[in-house]
Amino acid sequence: MSAAAENDGLIRVSALHALLYCERLFYLEEVEEIRLADASVYAGRTLHEELAKEEGEEQRSFFLTSEKLGLTGKMDAVKHRNGNWVVYEHKRGKPLLRKGEEPQAWESDITQAAAYSLLLEEHLQRGLDEARIRYHGHNVTVIVTLTAENREKVYQAIQRARELRTVTARPPVCESSRKCLKCSLAPVCLPEEERFVQSREWEPVRLFPAEIEGAALHVTGHQARIGRSGEAFKLEEASEPARKIPSADIHSITIHGNAQVTTQALQLCADKGIHLHWFSGGGTHLGSFSPGPGPVQRRIRQYQALTDPGMCLKLARRTVLAKVEGQLRFLLRATRGKKRNETTLAGIEEIRTLLKSVPTAEGVDILRGIEGSAAQTYFELIPCVLNEDTPSELIPSGRSRRPPKDRFNAILSFGYSMLYRAVFEGVLAVGLEPAFGFLHTPRSSAHPLIMDLMELFRAPVWDIITVSSINRRQWNIANDFSVTREKVWLSDEGRKKAIILFERRMQDKWKHPVLDYSLSWQRTMELEVRLLEKEWTDTPGLFARARLR
Ligand code: SF4
Repeated sequence: MSAAAENDGLIRVSALHALLYCERLFYLEEVEEIRLADASVYAGRTLHEELAKEEGEEQRSFFLTSEKLGLTGKMDAVKHRNGNWVVYEHKRGKPLLRKGEEPQAWESDITQAAAYSLLLEEHLQRGLDEARIRYHGHNVTVIVTLTAENREKVYQAIQRARELRTVTARPPVCESSRKCLKCSLAPVCLPEEERFVQSREWEPVRLFPAEIEGAALHVTGHQARIGRSGEAFKLEEASEPARKIPSADIHSITIHGNAQVTTQALQLCADKGIHLHWFSGGGTHLGSFSPGPGPVQRRIRQYQALTDPGMCLKLARRTVLAKVEGQLRFLLRATRGKKRNETTLAGIEEIRTLLKSVPTAEGVDILRGIEGSAAQTYFELIPCVLNEDTPSELIPSGRSRRPPKDRFNAILSFGYSMLYRAVFEGVLAVGLEPAFGFLHTPRSSAHPLIMDLMELFRAPVWDIITVSSINRRQWNIANDFSVTREKVWLSDEGRKKAIILFERRMQDKWKHPVLDYSLSWQRTMELEVRLLEKEWTDTPGLFARARLR
């Protein structure tokens, strides 16, 4: 919608089309301002561009606006036929085909063509008789007569659109699941997941893309410079030839250390919606750049939900349960087939006992205590899951954070900082406010919501990789670490190794045990953020349900 149309409260004719297709689609696009262009949207645009090239004297597309109708829109074409003007609407797809009948126009298309015709009537100050819809998928043109009934459908759609603009709750998912298969907003709406919550018999189809498009670009060189060359980023690193990376190939840039970024490169990020994250050499998140003002509606709902202590307690319980269960399952899996000594057995039992207390914990503070105790036991047991011949330098002694005191903790901390960035990406994609969480205490050094969500992924995404990479002897004790008396960090070599391991893990696909479809870990993070939002928008019940098998 143009800014003017939005401010004037005018409704786009194409939004009426969306409304008649599915009220929720209208709401997501017009009220929550979520717009995604999928392959079918691009194909539609291509069709209109091709038609534009064919425009002749008699065929023109143009904008019309009517204050009286409260409508605005750009019609595909207007032609002179049989002594009167006729609106033409072009569709890529097929008409409604019923056995033994002539092809007919779909209801939403009829109303769209009629709405354009009403705009044109007002502009020309003369009555029109018909509109025509060209279905290119079947190569037929269907005539829509401008009857009183078709005109009334336009008025009713305008009235319904106005009503929907004033409500704060999303309309329910549409009844016909077939419509969702073609809907560009299915990855945001998650209709199949909602149907599954409503009926556990439902077998959800994965409409959520399994993988994220583009890659995460990591820049580790302290002397590096990121500039712009047309639609590409130009990366210059000491001792390496300059590289051009098309902006379409990446979804985020992460700078580890002191690389420079030019204003032109920042403008390219803003233009393409690419997020930029700065981390210190030691892995502390320093800040992020995310273009655009952010979706206000969603944030208002988030504030309302997360100022409710009952909602926070429910979400915190679910998150702690998922985290501690994940840790327990990892320990059980990694020690399966081995002889568990008494310390391991006692630790596992302790974690089981702590788990049982989560569902009845009366406050978020208590949950934080349970989570902390479980984490302490879990990290004490980590040596049990390392191979017996692991070099002593790589065996941790508990968890040390700021700063890490041993090599194991250096790998862990660096990986967690990348996890922070990856979860941050998911939160930005959904449009939630990262500073407003439900489990972690607000503090200025890290966004609480990101810390909350990270709890779901520490064990399955990075702890597993840290342990397996050590067991596979992928770390070089001398070269991959920078060791002082106070702390241990990853060296440049070590960081590059960790980044490769981490990004590979992000692309690993796994099967969501509840929804029963496969997707990458990167995608799982965004999915969890969307399911979290559903806890307060429409259909709660699926957030933090995923577990390692
Ligand atoms: S995915 Fe289905 S329910 Fe959701 S907006 Fe699209 S058509 Fe409507």
